[in-house]
Amino acid sequence: METGAVGAGRFAPSPTGDLHVGNLRTAILAWLWARASGRRFVVRVEDIDRVRSGSAERQLADLAEIGLDWDGRVLVQTSRHDAHTRALEQLRVGGMVFECYCSRKEIREAGSAPHVPPGHYPGTCADLDEDVRAARRAELAAAGRAPALRFRAPEPEWTVEDELHGEFTGPVDQFVVWRSDGAPAYNLAVVVDDAFQGVDQVTRGDDLLSQAPAQAALATALGLAMPTYVHVPLSLSVSGARLAKRDGAVTLPDLHSLGWSTADVLQWIGASLEVDGARSVADLREALPLAALRAMPLKPWTVVPPAT
Ligand code: GLU
Repeated sequence: METGAVGAGRFAPSPTGDLHVGNLRTAILAWLWARASGRRFVVRVEDIDRVRSGSAERQLADLAEIGLDWDGRVLVQTSRHDAHTRALEQLRVGGMVFECYCSRKEIREAGSAPHVPPGHYPGTCADLDEDVRAARRAELAAAGRAPALRFRAPEPEWTVEDELHGEFTGPVDQFVVWRSDGAPAYNLAVVVDDAFQGVDQVTRGDDLLSQAPAQAALATALGLAMPTYVHVPLSLSVSGARLAKRDGAVTLPDLHSLGWSTADVLQWIGASLEVDGARSVADLREALPLAALRAMPLKPWTVVPPAT
């Protein structure tokens, strides 16, 4: 943990492009939940997957522009490779990972084994004999590839606490913790870095609710405390799909070019949270104490962008 006993909430965007109003709304909610519950608020750049150049800087500038403040330095996920490697070693020593030689295609074609939830790993490489492993490893090496490492989950399902969804139990997949290209997988990095930053409250879009049991099970396997979760409703386009930048004027620069001020944007986001007339995050904080956050509507926000 970076600092003392006070827990933290966080916002952890992937720098894949400009933040849209739905992302900004999630960031504001994460900040509000953290501040209203007496926590620190930290930010992390999750750059181990796809990255668009310049995007992390623009995202942080947008968060500052809407008035969010955070504690301590911004953590950049790729700077944490040693810590991720140590966590992997810990799992390896504990017998909690296994090598997986499957290609995506092989996994798709294997289909679901009985008792394996749809979309989950069918367990192909979980219990191979060492001589079979050696042969498959050699085959991959000959093709210039390396195995991925998957989590040997101690339990098939796990229960987490979510402030908005209550107790949530979900299946824990034998998910990848270390990719075949030598990089840590998102689920490992997120768990290790949340603990490092002292995060005990994870507020994020509810598209990730299904990942929470797996992440909490992994945290426990690593001897880390499970956070409390707050999975907030997603923002959708009028077509009902996840909001995306192509849906119209939905980023700060887009909206500014139409003459909207930052305060106008905050008022719009506030209205989506059933708060009238808020022009700053301070106004939102005043209007949305913890009790109001706990009672927030669980339906998605359908974003109707202004005409261009
Ligand atoms: N970096 C992920 C994203 O931007 C979010 C991860 C998380 O909040 O746990 O989608």
